[in-house]
Amino acid sequence: MLDTREQICALCNSKAKFYFVDHGDKKYFDCTNCKRYLICIDAEHYISEATEEIRINTARYAQESADDEATVISIESVTPYKHVAAKYAKRAELNV
Ligand SMILES: [Zn+2]
Repeated sequence: MLDTREQICALCNSKAKFYFVDHGDKKYFDCTNCKRYLICIDAEHYISEATEEIRINTARYAQESADDEATVISIESVTPYKHVAAKYAKRAELNV
């Protein structure tokens, strides 16, 4: 059984639900604004410390996902830079 918890959305600061996946390495969020998204813990931390612009752009991208999709948000690093990578995935194909 999934252990669903509540937390402020990592992207838009409204109340959202999530549960841990991948042994706690990722969170699968369900936000009324940002729809469903899978975010790795590293990316959540990065976004919490990033500029408003990065957070808002990521939120906007997630908000435009289709009903059968979820946004997969991760961190890509090209030394010494890191950036947020977001892409859509069919929810049916995600193992969440
Ligand atoms: Zn949100």
